[in-house]
Amino acid sequence: MFIVSAPWIVPVSDSVIQDGSIVIAGDRIEAVGRRDDITRSYQGLEEKRYKGVLMPGLINAHMHLELSYLGQSKELSEGQTFTDWISTLLEKRGKVQASEEEIVNSITATIDEQYQAGVVLIADIGNTHFQELRGKTNAAGIEVYRMLEFLGPDKGAVDRTLLSLKSLNAELPVTAHAPYSTVPVLLQAIKHRCRESAHLFSIHTAESAGEQQFISSLTGPFRDFLEKRNSWDGSFDDGGLGAASTSTVSYFEKLNILDDKTLLVHCTHVSTEDIQLIVQSGAKVCLCPGSNQFLKVGVAPVTDMVEAGILPCLGTDSITSNPALDLWREMGMLSKVHRGVSHDTILKMATLGGARAMHRECDYGSLSVGKKSNFIHVSSERLLACQNREEVIRVLVTAGKPAEIGHVVPGVSQ
Ligand SMILES: [Zn+2]
Repeated sequence: MFIVSAPWIVPVSDSVIQDGSIVIAGDRIEAVGRRDDITRSYQGLEEKRYKGVLMPGLINAHMHLELSYLGQSKELSEGQTFTDWISTLLEKRGKVQASEEEIVNSITATIDEQYQAGVVLIADIGNTHFQELRGKTNAAGIEVYRMLEFLGPDKGAVDRTLLSLKSLNAELPVTAHAPYSTVPVLLQAIKHRCRESAHLFSIHTAESAGEQQFISSLTGPFRDFLEKRNSWDGSFDDGGLGAASTSTVSYFEKLNILDDKTLLVHCTHVSTEDIQLIVQSGAKVCLCPGSNQFLKVGVAPVTDMVEAGILPCLGTDSITSNPALDLWREMGMLSKVHRGVSHDTILKMATLGGARAMHRECDYGSLSVGKKSNFIHVSSERLLACQNREEVIRVLVTAGKPAEIGHVVPGVSQ
């Protein structure tokens, strides 16, 4: 056992402690409190003193690590839309020649960057199953929950997907891409499999206005996109499920795929009724403000969500839709745009929100007794100058990535 201390401890689940200490026993937190109380109760233990702040590690709840090798995308020009971005991305993915080793190396580099930025847990979505990824990510001391993503817009693709689902090990987490790329029967089949294995089901949801149009009338840019790719055979209309819904969330509700292990990513176009459905079902929301801004798809009604009792989590999405994979920047963007949402809540989103969404609250998300000792210390000139608790939280949320970030127990993972 040993003690770590700092001028400020931000437990997230509790009030900020000035001049606090944390006792670490093995890979777990044994006690959290004021330094004078802790050092009195745990006399004789070695103590390591940090400057700045001790806080939980950040959780990036939406990434596509395997797209890292593609690098940044060009900004959308005037008149270009979300579907144009998808077309360009698919074209680039087809054109750029990269070996599996190169792709895995760029994934590993991105994971390392996340780790250096104080991230402890990532929810990652990819179309390829990289067997060797697991070992590499653990060595970096960061946990990656990787979901293999499927889609199927037409009958042929659905049949192929159902077949490959059957052949996969039941322990491998799978998920579905989006409501405009995956027909209702396949969404249900994938969610069913997730339920059986108690896996997270993460899906792009209500990301753009075009999606809203597609769900409510099966027309618009996504219909055109599917037709252009020869992927339109009416499968979306089976049972009238698609056409009879007014929003993605109500559509998911009808399909019975909303529950507390469903992670709705983006939710930029959700109504008050949708927010109620999310609350009732216990489904989780992942906000990606940086990606939404880059793709010009709109701004999620974050204040309404928070007022309704939702604690969203945060995700950076991939480098192809966000110039910086930086959760500190995402927090800053949220605080600028949603003035009614407190800094406390935004910091919670980047930590506790992610832990709850991924059902890992027993390990991550806050500095409380019993949780993993894989948390971080951060410092900067502005943090060192803070005079009170509110100021500490404000600087953490609004000032961008702190100059110094380190993991208290480096290399801790599983
Ligand atoms: Zn995404």
